[in-house]
Amino acid sequence: MTVNIILLGPPGAGKGTQARRLVEERGLVQLSTGDMLREARSSGTEMGKVVAEVMDKGQLVTDEIVVGLIREKLEGSDAPGFIFDGFPRTLKQADALGELLEGLKQNVDVVIEMQVDDTALVERISGRYTCGNCGEVYHDKTKPSAEEGVCDACGSTDLRRRADDNEESLKTRLLEYYKKTSPLIGYYYAKEKLHPVNGLASVDEVAAQMKTALDKL
Ligand code: ADP
Ligand code: ZN
Repeated sequence: MTVNIILLGPPGAGKGTQARRLVEERGLVQLSTGDMLREARSSGTEMGKVVAEVMDKGQLVTDEIVVGLIREKLEGSDAPGFIFDGFPRTLKQADALGELLEGLKQNVDVVIEMQVDDTALVERISGRYTCGNCGEVYHDKTKPSAEEGVCDACGSTDLRRRADDNEESLKTRLLEYYKKTSPLIGYYYAKEKLHPVNGLASVDEVAAQMKTALDKL
């Protein structure tokens, strides 16, 4: 049986961190549209150039582009399940995902809603950096790397800050979230898929709350 999980929550809610754990613990495949789009932009293709500008402003990339990226990953995959991290972000994307999975005789099984307040988000995001090699996530105050400039997990010195992790883009990202993504909470609640967790709890505690929801499947 396949298990498909959506991680839903505003920027900085901890979706990426939890997705990485689920990959390790359950062998699921993480599909992060944010990561795919960052890859597309660094590849320098035409599409990459278009998305770079939109992303840096904190706006959403078009549904056509992200649905296309997800479709490519789903078709022909024999993964035991997916963790959707940062997708869907609009009602159109949610409908498209439902149809794509239906075509594969699969479903969205659980939607984890990561609840956090806005003040916490601003603090989390403004100190955030990640390892360009292995994806480990760090924070200036709450989780600095043991040795400055070196990744604890893989030893790489390629630690990066995202171009859109600044106050101005963050304001737009939050507004986009409330306008376009938060309606998905009601959408999945009505489909009886929604499981809220407290995103302000520790990484382990959030993982434990998610496990409770997943074990009910
Ligand atoms: P965060 O959750 O911290 O905002 P992501 O890495 O998920 O970070 O996304 C970064 C940016 O990529 C978004 O601000 C947006 O421009 C674009 N993006 C990612 N996923 C989507 C999506 N599903 N639909 C539209 N745009 C997206
Ligand atoms: Zn690393």
